[in-house]
Amino acid sequence: MELKHLYRQIMMDHYKNPQNKGLVEDESYSKFHLYNPSCGDDITVQALVEDNIIKDIKQDGKGCSICCSSASVMSQTLKGKNVNEANEIIQSFYNMLMDQEFDNNLVQGEMLAYSGVKDFPARISCATLPWKALEQALKEEEEN
Ligand code: ZN
Repeated sequence: MELKHLYRQIMMDHYKNPQNKGLVEDESYSKFHLYNPSCGDDITVQALVEDNIIKDIKQDGKGCSICCSSASVMSQTLKGKNVNEANEIIQSFYNMLMDQEFDNNLVQGEMLAYSGVKDFPARISCATLPWKALEQALKEEEEN
């Protein structure tokens, strides 16, 4: 019960004080927008990749507290990671939310606040939306 309270607190902190919020007008960032019709979450993510390292992440949009806080946690977690590592972390996060086995070395810290979302299947897409947007932004980066 106490852990659930802590996780809820982490989400609310990021919802109220989102990290890396606000897009930049810079062509060197790749950008991806995703919309979740079941909840109305609307998120755009930008990524700046140099030498296979994610140098910067920006996120903006509107949505529920799960989605917006998850965008903040995602940007904080993956900024500074190399692209391969980031993709592994993203997949492990999806696995945790789908109640599948996941790597505890990859899903750490504030990401764990979303572990309870698996019990609310309708909200899983809220939590994964920003991570999916970044995943797509990284793919676009690769193709360019
Ligand atoms: Zn939502």
